[in-house]
Amino acid sequence: MSANFAILIGASAAIAALLALWAIVRHLQGKACEIHATADLWSGRRYACPDCGTAMDAGWVMLGKGAIWSSREQGPPGTFAHIGRALPNTISMSLRPAVNMAWRCPSCRLVLIDYTKLVKPAGRGGTA
Ligand SMILES: [Zn+2]
Repeated sequence: MSANFAILIGASAAIAALLALWAIVRHLQGKACEIHATADLWSGRRYACPDCGTAMDAGWVMLGKGAIWSSREQGPPGTFAHIGRALPNTISMSLRPAVNMAWRCPSCRLVLIDYTKLVKPAGRGGTA
């Protein structure tokens, strides 16, 4: 086997991996529900901390490679957990990423995340 053949095999594997990643991202984007930010999104959306009962702060959360959740029985996600396993509407590949509505309790350090949709940012100082 020549060195050129080994390079060709390596390059082919890298291209196949990139194509697989691209296919996963396209699949996730096709399933995502993205909406524009409006002030109406927040009406009726007040939550009490499940631990201490105080009102949680409303805000946004960006989850990077998505929220990869697994049940307690399944155990925590492992090293090889990938974005294909992320919960729906938790990944945005946009240049200005869409984000999830979230509420947090700073005292208990608990976060409640709404992943029914992704919300496109309205910009700094927006009403949402
Ligand atoms: Zn709390």
